[in-house]
Amino acid sequence: MTKYKLPTSGTKIEYKDGKLRVPNDPIIPFFPGDGTGPDIWRATRIVIDAAVEKAYKGKRNISWMEVFAGLTALKNYDKDTVLPQETLDAFREYRIGIKGPLTTPAGSFKFVCLDCAAELMDRPATCPKCRSEWITPRFRSVNVGLRQKLDLYACVRPVRWFTGVPCPVKSPEKFNIVIFRENTEDIYAGIEFQQGTPECKKVYDFLTSEMKVKIPFPDSGIGIKPISITGTKRLVRMAIKYAIAHKKPSVTLVHKGNIQKFTEGAFRDWGYEVAAQEFRDQTVTETELWDKHEGKLPAGKVLVKDRIADQTFQQFLLRPDEYSVIATTNLNGDYLSDAAAAQVGGLGIAPGANIGDGVAIFEATHGTAPKYANKDVVNPGSLILSGVMMLEHLGWQEAADLIVKGLEGAIQAKTVTYDLERQMAGAKKLKCSEFGAAIVRNMTDAAGAA
Ligand code: NAP
Repeated sequence: MTKYKLPTSGTKIEYKDGKLRVPNDPIIPFFPGDGTGPDIWRATRIVIDAAVEKAYKGKRNISWMEVFAGLTALKNYDKDTVLPQETLDAFREYRIGIKGPLTTPAGSFKFVCLDCAAELMDRPATCPKCRSEWITPRFRSVNVGLRQKLDLYACVRPVRWFTGVPCPVKSPEKFNIVIFRENTEDIYAGIEFQQGTPECKKVYDFLTSEMKVKIPFPDSGIGIKPISITGTKRLVRMAIKYAIAHKKPSVTLVHKGNIQKFTEGAFRDWGYEVAAQEFRDQTVTETELWDKHEGKLPAGKVLVKDRIADQTFQQFLLRPDEYSVIATTNLNGDYLSDAAAAQVGGLGIAPGANIGDGVAIFEATHGTAPKYANKDVVNPGSLILSGVMMLEHLGWQEAADLIVKGLEGAIQAKTVTYDLERQMAGAKKLKCSEFGAAIVRNMTDAAGAA
């Protein structure tokens, strides 16, 4: 018997021959998350359910199934369990899931309060800050645990501008880029040796004596950055398949191969190999574009090109409309995704997903914002747009489109949560739940006959 409850109706999503088979009533596991998670989840669920109902009039519906992680796991499982095996198993078994943000301890303290994220050196019976009893020893990130244990190797972030969102650039409407960031290697693998430890000395001695590598100073901490053929190819393969399926004109491999030839440079080379070996008929390279097609992309083809990471930042600012899908390594992708979201003013409403072969989890990209917990004030847009990505992944495009129209309508009517209201002249400030309701209302208007 699992601690989570199966819904009374609903059917499992299947995965066969590399494809999802989505029933009309899929069971979808979720957890609301910590801090502001429950507020944004409540609004998100109402919006998704309303869109599905409006789009399919009862022929399709989602059977939601709550599983536990973070604070809700502490409350439902043995003490100190923040990521139960049952939760991992449920996401693996039911294939598609959605989650709110989770508290992630980051400092050198020993305990953390999962109600208010207070970081503590000892374990009092109740939290000195919020009086909660839900205090647990410092743990590794649950988000990282989910990605690693379910092998969700691509972090996917679509970045676009919504009319009316305040932003720092002149032509934000030119920006519409989906970033595929490798999720398992590069710095994410976390292979590091702390300066001053015997392990670090051992690695230093091996590198300088046996490998004849010159390290400028002996008092160095040392990090190792693995980038593999397997990790690169599966990420680039996913990005190219996405570009083909969504009729996107290009995939750009972003790297620092000019400096790190055997990791970043190899990422570029292996990326081109995937395109040539597996998508020969559907792709052209930049050289072929000019040598054979006079610079004009042939209809139905995807242009595969590459750019150095630092140049990509200026390209995003100067000529963003020349990019549509990015495939990149972990650290480059980390910087690029946030910079891109900020450029269109959408850090607070940027959606994301972690996707592997046959399993995907959609998530808000911001954190738990504990100071706003249970106040019903924060913007649910990030989780709602992650819900849009989830509906698209299910192939339920009509419902996804309704939500986007509803969100655009609410923003254009200047009825928004505090974070947008404080930047928009003449806007009306809504609560989190009211913003969800405004999206639903604007969805109906947008749907016309729906
Ligand atoms: P945060 O929770 O993202 O909050 C930082 C600030 O961003 C907030 O104070 C607020 O700004 C704004 N913000 C966040 N969510 C918002 C929303 N829904 N609507 C409007 N504004 C929003 O970052 P943090 O305070 O650094 O982290 C808090 C906890 O979340 C930490 O434990 C961290 O590790 C965790 N975290 C989890 C995830 C995840 O689960 N994926 C991601 C990042 C961080 P203003 O104060 O200006 O209003």
